[in-house]
Amino acid sequence: MNTHNSEQLFERAQKIIPGGVNSPVRAFKSVKGIPRFFAKADGAKFWDVDGNEYIDYMMSWGPLILGHSYASVIASVKQAALRGTSFGGATEGEIELAEMVIERFPAAEMLRLVSSGTEATMTAIRLARAFTGRELMVKFDGCYHGHSDALLVKAGSGLATHGIAGSAGVPESTAKAMISLPYNDLESVEKVFERRGSDIAGIIVEPVAANMGVIPPTEGFLEGLRHLTAKLDSVFIFDEVISGFRVARGGACELYGMTPDLICFGKILGGGLPIGGVGGKREIMEQLAPLGDVYQAGTLSGNPISVAAGIATLKELDRRGFYEGLKDRTVKLADALRKRFASAGIPVIVNHLTGLLTLFFGTGTLTDYESVQKCDMEMFARYHAGMLEKGIYLPPSGYEAWFISSAHGSRELQKTADAVKEVAESL
Ligand code: PMP
Repeated sequence: MNTHNSEQLFERAQKIIPGGVNSPVRAFKSVKGIPRFFAKADGAKFWDVDGNEYIDYMMSWGPLILGHSYASVIASVKQAALRGTSFGGATEGEIELAEMVIERFPAAEMLRLVSSGTEATMTAIRLARAFTGRELMVKFDGCYHGHSDALLVKAGSGLATHGIAGSAGVPESTAKAMISLPYNDLESVEKVFERRGSDIAGIIVEPVAANMGVIPPTEGFLEGLRHLTAKLDSVFIFDEVISGFRVARGGACELYGMTPDLICFGKILGGGLPIGGVGGKREIMEQLAPLGDVYQAGTLSGNPISVAAGIATLKELDRRGFYEGLKDRTVKLADALRKRFASAGIPVIVNHLTGLLTLFFGTGTLTDYESVQKCDMEMFARYHAGMLEKGIYLPPSGYEAWFISSAHGSRELQKTADAVKEVAESL
């Protein structure tokens, strides 16, 4: 495969952009090859600057549930841009999008729009701390909630890929106010709550972990967290930046019948443009300025173009059978992977939920970050390189989720399955 142009751009980029990329997960540090520079995209495919075509399973890390350049989304973006790119004042679209979110997530009685998932989670924990008057927060090893200081403790994929335990530059006092526990281990949470329950402001969790590869919650885990937080008046926060609008119309809340106190959104909410959102119980949300004394703001918050893309995207998700179709595609891909690797005699674990999948090179059941770390990431790197060569673009790390969109049709899935067969046999 000719990658001359990508190589040249990467060289040029590295001189002035740290690592040549504007987000570390874009680098190919843990897989072989050089990061591709992209030129254009359509549906389930994108093309790099050398004209190589790929079926994309990264999908901009989640926002593109309809695939690239979806016609109604592009049309809405164009119309919004022509009306004005940003006003710095309120627009009707923001209300419309908030109403759409609240209808899908009844646990969100109010919503504040921000510009990224990081801002959403950062705001949520500030709200939890203000609401309870407590400082200590609980998160889970391998869950990523964006890159704010408070949340960069044992934070999953990006850090795991690059072998970083916790970020440098985070004050010790900040890190100390966050306890990180094993995912799916309710007992360890119970123990911490027994000892320090009255100090704990809240728990933040990815209700479907997707930043150590896809790890679904085990039965009773989320319910147990809900019970503990309710008992000790702590705030229960769902980070649905990935799972929201993906694993079901109403995200993990709907899928598992859960009512958290706060929910964080991002990705699909902006249909491929920058956005985030935090929603939740009215009495907690009403602490936000200008109503209350929890400060949060943003020059481009609720940006009209992002909002237009979000509204257009959410409308499409209401098409009859959308989620059944997405689930069907995901299951087909999972089955193809299992079958091809079984015949190649290589043990793999394929975890998946609607629109989300990770292939792990390992055995047994994966329930937490520790078990994921036992998987063979070197093998993943070789697999990734083989698939890339065949025009199948997987996220460049074994700790990531693959994103399936409604644009991944039977042709793309068949081509992927054929490539899997060849690559699996060559490993
Ligand atoms: N929460 C989760 C679960 C995420 O996966 C991410 C990003 N991958 C974030 C928060 C942060 O979102 P952003 O990159 O938009 O800041």
